[in-house]
Amino acid sequence: MPELPEVEVVRRGLEAHVVGRLITSVEVLHPRAIRRHIAGDIDFAARLAGQTITAARRRGKYLWADLDGDAAMLAHLGMSGQMLIRDGDAPDEKHLRVRLRFADGGPQLRFVDQRTFGGLSIEDTVEVDGTVLPVPVAHIARDPMDPAFDLPATVKALRRKRTEVKRALLDQNLISGIGNIYADEALWRAKLHWARPTEKLPAAKATEVLAHAADVMREALGQGGTSFDALYVNVNGESGYFDRSLAVYGQEGLPCGRCGSPIRREPFMNRSSYSCPRCQRRPHTR
Ligand SMILES: [Zn+2]
Repeated sequence: MPELPEVEVVRRGLEAHVVGRLITSVEVLHPRAIRRHIAGDIDFAARLAGQTITAARRRGKYLWADLDGDAAMLAHLGMSGQMLIRDGDAPDEKHLRVRLRFADGGPQLRFVDQRTFGGLSIEDTVEVDGTVLPVPVAHIARDPMDPAFDLPATVKALRRKRTEVKRALLDQNLISGIGNIYADEALWRAKLHWARPTEKLPAAKATEVLAHAADVMREALGQGGTSFDALYVNVNGESGYFDRSLAVYGQEGLPCGRCGSPIRREPFMNRSSYSCPRCQRRPHTR
């Protein structure tokens, strides 16, 4: 799954290329890509045609385009979803799933998805805490890069949970946008083992790890995101290169940049956690 920086890269591309444009026609080339739109492909196309995209927005890893008719087109990027801006005469991509054409005759918006875990849907919107969100996103917490992100309140909520610190960082209802990669990087920067119990975490340490998470995601964004998977691309089809700057994620056996100890990999929720055995001591008890 792409994390916040990779999704923000796509959002910025959409903001630059499709906001303010009137959709004239929609072509669904694979039904799986709109399976979350229960009413089906004809309804999907009918609800988009004649709409103007008024904004490209994001919360955490969720991305959507606001439409002028009080609805939103939610994009689930899944494992390999791409939103590409392509001239009409550019050949169709092998895994092209949905195509949007615009009244200005300019470049098309194409949803391309090799593994078809992603998709598009039209959603009603709801106002939550002063912000209008697509209904499926309503429960998702603000992310650390949101101007209205409340750091002290999030620290408090994190310390009230009785869980491991990494599980809390990944909890989209508590704080959104942080996934496996950036959680490991933030924990390394804060010198915290992922299994540290949140209820015993000093407020200053909790604040520190959240600040590091925001920093590392901001740095990743500056480099176009992280792309272990060449399928994570911006609207022009280009990958980011933050993976070259990762301190621990995917670095098993390589020396820690702080102390030289070989980075360890441990199983975590069907995936892996990477950390330094010396800088990030495992907690003794739970
Ligand atoms: Zn170390």
